[in-house]
Amino acid sequence: MATSDISRNYDVFKYYCCTICETERSVEIDADFYCKKCLKYFCRTCINSHRQHGWWSYKKYPYGKDKIRKWPLSKKMETFVLKCIIHNDEQLTRYCADHSQLCCSKCVELNHSQCSKVTPIHELTNTQPTDLQGLSVELETVLGEIKSLQISQEASVESLQKTYKEHRADMIEQMRGNVNTNLDKCGYNYVGTSGKIEQYLEDDMCRSVLSILNEFDNITLKELNEMKDEVISIKGSVTSSIHKCTSLHSDLLQLLEIVQKIGDNKELCLIASIKCKHIIQQALTLLGNSGKVFKVQGKSEHNVRITSDSNTCWIPAICALPDGQVLVADYNNNKVKLLNQQYQVVSHWDVNARSFDICLITPREVAVAVSNGIIHAVQFITVNQGKLVSGRKFQLQHECRGIGHHQGDLFVTSGQELYKYTLSGKLICRLYEDRSLKYTVYKCAVSPTGDKLYITSRDQNKLLTLARDGTLLATFTDPALEWPRGLHVTPAGQVLVCGHWPHTVLQVGWEGESKLATLATREDGVWGPRSVCYSSTTSSIIVGQCDDNILVFRVE
Ligand SMILES: [Zn+2]
Ligand SMILES: [Zn+2]
Ligand SMILES: [Zn+2]
Ligand SMILES: [Zn+2]
Repeated sequence: MATSDISRNYDVFKYYCCTICETERSVEIDADFYCKKCLKYFCRTCINSHRQHGWWSYKKYPYGKDKIRKWPLSKKMETFVLKCIIHNDEQLTRYCADHSQLCCSKCVELNHSQCSKVTPIHELTNTQPTDLQGLSVELETVLGEIKSLQISQEASVESLQKTYKEHRADMIEQMRGNVNTNLDKCGYNYVGTSGKIEQYLEDDMCRSVLSILNEFDNITLKELNEMKDEVISIKGSVTSSIHKCTSLHSDLLQLLEIVQKIGDNKELCLIASIKCKHIIQQALTLLGNSGKVFKVQGKSEHNVRITSDSNTCWIPAICALPDGQVLVADYNNNKVKLLNQQYQVVSHWDVNARSFDICLITPREVAVAVSNGIIHAVQFITVNQGKLVSGRKFQLQHECRGIGHHQGDLFVTSGQELYKYTLSGKLICRLYEDRSLKYTVYKCAVSPTGDKLYITSRDQNKLLTLARDGTLLATFTDPALEWPRGLHVTPAGQVLVCGHWPHTVLQVGWEGESKLATLATREDGVWGPRSVCYSSTTSSIIVGQCDDNILVFRVE
């Protein structure tokens, strides 16, 4: 941990103020020294007049900021620990076991008056164990992980901008090349011509050049603008995530410093340890390692067939937008459908090919993997005021079965390979391949921080977990996972997968090693599930099947 981080932190929060400045002039000046004999703090100015112990012991008693870890817990830190997070001027006095929450008197009055297990904190100090040592180690680990997440996100933003600029430069270069080729052609023909022919050729040349420029204006520029909007939106969401990291990092750091000084005040220890656990949980959620197991609370079914559908719906992909609307790919009817918050079809887009998978690019835009058997492509679709509007598209040299997105990186599966592309459709690399069977790399999903990739190997009945670079980290198999098709990772990193047979939806741990829960089975109406998706907006898991109905499980 860098010392600069600590001092910056203390500069902001002023946990230690110069005692002299505070008592004599009523101002809060950040302290730079602590005298363990006088139990006083000093700023850079006041330390000069601090000569009580004689010049010879000057070095013996005061600690400089480099020894800040040895400074005691200040009154301000104590206040910080005791303060209610919601009601800033209230002190925490009780603990509600029903909600696992620390409460001030206002909290109790407003939110916990009906709760059965609200106990004064001082009554709990002997029954609740506090392992501050362990928590401190845990805090330090999480701090390091948050820091590296922040660094990788900053790199994402940079590479995203680079992709856009390169693509723009390529497009301009291509146009320039086209114009030049035309001019050269005409220039060559110009030799040895005269009169009317010359005039004709000049007109012709103008027309060609104009048509190239028009095409650039109407098509390329439109696409570049679409991409620019994507880059701005993704950059915005990454930046807000970086801010979350920064603020959590500073919260964690404060708690770590406090925890290391707290000593044996049992009440403070208990409150600090509960606060630590909460903040560690928040950090794990941000890191995509939440491990929280879903509990199904209720179920509903919704018909997504529309009058123009000639076949039974097959839903190989579902994608929930942050506003609660949902997109479904209907393979059998060659459509992508938009459902409103009540899961009614409000708009659809006809694909002249099969649509296999959908992933979210921005809160209003998705990428759809489409194929007609000969041409394979990634088609971008925007949701605009309840309507689906098709946008840019790029072609692939291979089949596409699954697609996933993380901060400007697109992951596409071909059935036997997993590829990584830029948003502009430039192939970066092949991350994984297995040619032993027809569909060994079927669907794919990315962890919230991008450090893990999950793929379903349909023909091998496996869920594979890969590192960012494609290295195999874990293999998961289960009797309840045959022909795995649907795969989804929630923003907190919970992995959902469904086996076509024996009709189940499972939650697997983020390490991709063990089953955490069977969320739904045949008894719940699951029959040959093809796709699964979690909507945090509506707290529900949506399951698509070879059926006109989709299943919606309300979860907690
Ligand atoms: Zn001072
Ligand atoms: Zn002193
Ligand atoms: Zn409160
Ligand atoms: Zn409560």
